[in-house]
This record gives sequence, C-alpha cells and structure tokens, in this order.
Amino acid sequence: MPAPSPPQVYIETFGCQMNELDSELVSGALRSMGYSFTADASAASVVLYNTCSVRDHAEQKVRSRLGEMALRKKEEPGLVVGVLGCMAERDGVDMLKRFPVVDILCGPGELDKLPAMVDNAVRTSGAHGGEEEFQRGVRGGRGEIQSEMGRGTVVAAGSPAAGGIPNPVSLYSSAPSASSALKLSAPKQVALQGNASRRSATLAAAADSLEMLDLSRSVSPTDHNGSAYVRITRGCNKFCTYCVVPHTRGAEVHRPPEHIIDECKRLADAGVVEVTLLGQTVNHYRFEHASAVTVGGVVQPQKGRSFTGGHTRDPFAGAQVTTFADLLKRIHDEVPGILRLRFVTSYPRDFGDDVLEVIRDSPRICRYLHVPAQTGSDRMLTAMNRGYSISEYLEFIDRARAILHQPEINRPLTIAGDIIAGFCGETEADHLATADLLRRARYKNCFIFKYSPRPGTTAYDRLPDDVPEDVKRRRVNELLALQQTISDEISREHIGQTLGVFVSGLSARATKAAKRKERANAAAGVTLTISGRDPVHAEGTDASNACTIDASHVFDDGSESLEPHGPGVQLTGRTDGDLIVVFDCPSGMSPDDLIGRVVPVRVVDANQLTMSGVVVR
Ligand code: SAM
Ligand code: SF4
Repeated sequence: MPAPSPPQVYIETFGCQMNELDSELVSGALRSMGYSFTADASAASVVLYNTCSVRDHAEQKVRSRLGEMALRKKEEPGLVVGVLGCMAERDGVDMLKRFPVVDILCGPGELDKLPAMVDNAVRTSGAHGGEEEFQRGVRGGRGEIQSEMGRGTVVAAGSPAAGGIPNPVSLYSSAPSASSALKLSAPKQVALQGNASRRSATLAAAADSLEMLDLSRSVSPTDHNGSAYVRITRGCNKFCTYCVVPHTRGAEVHRPPEHIIDECKRLADAGVVEVTLLGQTVNHYRFEHASAVTVGGVVQPQKGRSFTGGHTRDPFAGAQVTTFADLLKRIHDEVPGILRLRFVTSYPRDFGDDVLEVIRDSPRICRYLHVPAQTGSDRMLTAMNRGYSISEYLEFIDRARAILHQPEINRPLTIAGDIIAGFCGETEADHLATADLLRRARYKNCFIFKYSPRPGTTAYDRLPDDVPEDVKRRRVNELLALQQTISDEISREHIGQTLGVFVSGLSARATKAAKRKERANAAAGVTLTISGRDPVHAEGTDASNACTIDASHVFDDGSESLEPHGPGVQLTGRTDGDLIVVFDCPSGMSPDDLIGRVVPVRVVDANQLTMSGVVVR
C-alpha cells in the first residue's frame, strides 16, 4: 500500500515583519518534521493564521477567515485550525468560546511549542485516517514527540506551564486547568505567555525556550530571494498608550550577539545578501556579557535595561557590553557576504551618534532609518506616552542627516515614519502640527494610520476615543496627500544618480504579463520558463513605469547603460535607502542572473512610489 502523503499546512501571515519571520521559523520547524506546505488553503488539512492585533482591521480579517473555516469544518471535521501570534495572546482562551473552530492557540512568545501542538492536534483530529496511518505519512522524529505528549491538551494563560518550559510533557496537561469551565468539545492546544514574560531577568532567562526557535532556523540556499530577517530583540518596554505590542509580545529581550552573528553567517553562506535586523525598538539593543546567564551550555537572551534617554552615545559601552553600534559593526565586519544590512524599527529617543557613525563608516550598512514620530503635536506625544518632544525628534532627524546624508557620493539618507491620525483628544491644531512635521521631516514614505482603540491598552481604558470616524478619515487623507507630494519630490531628487539596487524579482508589470503568457501557453499546451532568454511581451504595460531609454546610452558622467532586453522583462528592486526601482533586464542576461544581486542602476524617471532606471556599467 502506498504511504499516505504528509499533512499539508497552509499558513497566512498578517501584520509586521516580525510576524513574517515567526511564520518562516515555525514553517521551517514543521517542514523538518515532515509537513509540507501549500499556498491553497482549501488543499490544506492544517490551516494556521499568524495574526496581528495592532489595529482592529487586521483582527477583523482573521475573524472572517475563522468564519469561513467554521463552515468548512462542518464538511471536514478533521481540519485543524490554529491561531498564532498577537491575537491569540490578546484574546486568550476566550477565543475558544467565540470561535469553537479553533483547535490551537499559540501566543508569539510560545511559538517554539507550536510544532508539537500541531503534531498533537493532527494526531487527535482524526484526519489522515488515524494515528497509525499518520505516522507512516510523516518522516523522522515524530514518534518521540507523540509518545512524550500523550493526549492532554489545555494550558491556560498565566499557568506555570505556559511560562516557556521547553519540555512538552510539562507543557501539556491532560486536565483542562483554568479553562475547565469551557466544556471544550474537542481537545484544544493552548500556549500563551500571560504576563509571565515580565518576571525577573534570571527566572525568565532560565526559561527562554523561544530562543531555540531562532537557533534552529533552517537555512536553505534555494529557499530565499537573497533577503532575510534576523531578530535581535523581542518584545517592548515602552508602553505607548495606544499600543498592544508590550501586552502581546512581552518584555524587551535581547538575543546574545554570538547567536545573531552566527545566524547572519549561516544566511550569508546560503546566499542571502540582504539582512534586515528586527526589533520593536531595535536601537535599544544592548547585551551585557557580565550578567549573561547560560542554561545547558546556551547563552540566554537578556532582559533590556531601561534607557534613561538624552544620551548621544550608549552610556554602557565598554568591553563587557555589546551595544547596538557594536553589533552593527561586528555583523558588517565579520559577515562581508551581507552586502546590505538594515534594521527596523528605531525608537527616536536614545539614538546615539555612535550608531550613526558606524553606519557612515560601513559601506554595507544601508542609509535608511525608519523612526516613527506618531504625531507632530507635543500634547499628543504626552498623551501617547512617547517620551520625547517634537523638538527632540527634529534634533535627531537633523543630526542623522548631518552625519549620513551624502548624495554627492551617491549615499543619500532616506527616512521613513509612522503617524497615527485621530488619537484621543486630537484637535485640528494638533493635526496641523502633524502636517508641519511631515513637511519638516521630509520622509521618503510614511505609514499613516487611523487610530484604532485596542482593548487592554491604557488609552482604551482611560482616554475617550473622541475623534469622529469621518474626521479621522479626512485627517488621514489630508496627511496622505501631503506625504505623496513629498515622496514624489524625494524620488525625483534621485534622477540622474547611479544607485546600487538589490534586485528582488520581476516587477508587478512583468509578473502580470508572465501570468498572462502562462495562461495563454497553458491553453496552447506549452510550459513557460521565466527567463530573460524567453522574453515576456508586456501587453498593456504601465507606461509611467516604463524605462524611456531603449538602446545603450552614454551619460554625462561617462557611465554607459546596458541595452535593455526588451520592454517586457522588467525587474524590480530596492536601493540602499529602500526606494523601489524598476528597470528592464539588460540584453544577454536573464532575470535569474540578476535576482538576489546588487546592480548599479541609473535613475532616469521617478514618481512618488517608484523610480525607473537602466542598468549601467
Ligand atoms: N515599535 C515601533 C515604534 O514604536 O515605532 C512600531 C511598532 S507598531 C507594531 C507599528 C505601528 O503601528 C506604530 O508605529 C503605530 O504607528 C501603529 N499603531 C500601533 N498601535 C496603533 C493603534 N492602536 N492604532 C493605529 N495605529 C497603531
Ligand atoms: Fe508599540 Fe510604542 Fe513599543 Fe512601538 S515603542 S511597539 S509603538 S509600545
């Protein structure tokens, strides 16, 4: 009898880069256990949603997906549905009452347990014809987990077992604990952090099994497009009054520098050339070696010391400490295969000149800063508990530009921001102050959000959400229109510059054309390979993005464009400053020759979203 195929998993990710990385890590762990993945939810027997709670809109999408899954589960009772990430942590076990379709709830601080939870849910769900058949369908290592785990299932938020204990035997209890009143019809798998992450540094360090998820990251040379995220800090200690993140992702924790550098080396060895370091307040990174804790031979992540602010250099710098500036320099110097090193998101206060100087002196660190101000009004900054004033914010922007903005050597600095419009008590004067900030900060782009009250935050509990919906919407639209004008001006400033572009793939236009051609070929029984030697002719191309140079050309500065392949094979990539550039693949090269590489592109046209250019020698 042929072996049954392994269970197919579908994972959908909502929200930020941190969630994208979490999904990648848990997918890698599940793959190593024999699970395979599908991009088609309807073909999967395990459906996982990695959720975001930052705004209600993101949660609504997940609720609607769960509604669809509830209908499907009536037909397929063996279907396993999991909610991972911030929404699981924020809603807690209440979600199981409101959405009985959910089998697995796993908070962002407990994701190392997810593979075992999925495994257990699949075995107990009745899918795949029962346990025996299931074991034959999956390769390697699983019998061990199954025999350890048994079939007990509920761990409630805040229970001792939910605090990050690595052994699955301890994690799963056979009797529902705090949620015994739920009368669950099927075994549910729950791992939530509760408020356990804000325990003392020593206790938390001893129990930090989440680090193992990052440490066991599987890196394959064929699994990436040249770009990867690496987490350096988790959680957040800032408690901005509107924000759910400190409640869902827990305390700020810093990974040991050796773990980060080793991960970067492994990624570079697998062909990754662009690494983005991730953290909610990434520039707070600091690892104090003198107080490092080692468990089972592994140095543990460390709780962040609070920043007092107001310094221009990390006051704790020294031989026993790896500061953020030290970490950037070490990755830059020790992993030369990474041609692009960037980081998000920075907290505007506490950004020292030490970091700016390392960026200036390191050719492979991108001159791009994402430093959200959130508002242009001091009154609103206080209500948001942001801990700085607008004049301090602008002082930082000016300092960063003075040190890093060098267009004369083709190394301009670009800055991106975030704004929340319509926060509690925001007046028209506050709104106008935010518009002034946009004009003064001149972001290359800015994410502008309508304030969304989030249960559990200080603003939700204490500040009335008193800006009417239509006023919020109008303010967002006004700020967006203003930002579009500024983005357009900034893009145009790059016309005539030759910038290194990290090529990420076919442009949206070329992808659409390739799909059209694929459909036409499929109808004619032909298989398409996407390659520069197999030009994709773009019908109905977007003329505003098309390159205006159609033959080899020598510019005033002596640089010479390479003859483009043809208008259909258009590639896209990003500059060091994170600006999007599209250009035609040069003649004699295929997209595969360029994707994942940094190539020199001369910018010949631009609009607010995209620049277009030609590859030069
Ligand atoms: N840690 C980053 C920082 O402090 O800038 C940002 C992380 S947060 C997940 C991403 C962005 O979401 C924030 O910069 C803020 O603009 C926005 N945001 C957070 N909470 C929000 C809320 N309740 N309503 C609207 N936007 C919100
Ligand atoms: Fe949220 Fe503020 Fe922390 Fe950013 S710094 S994650 S906005 S609490």
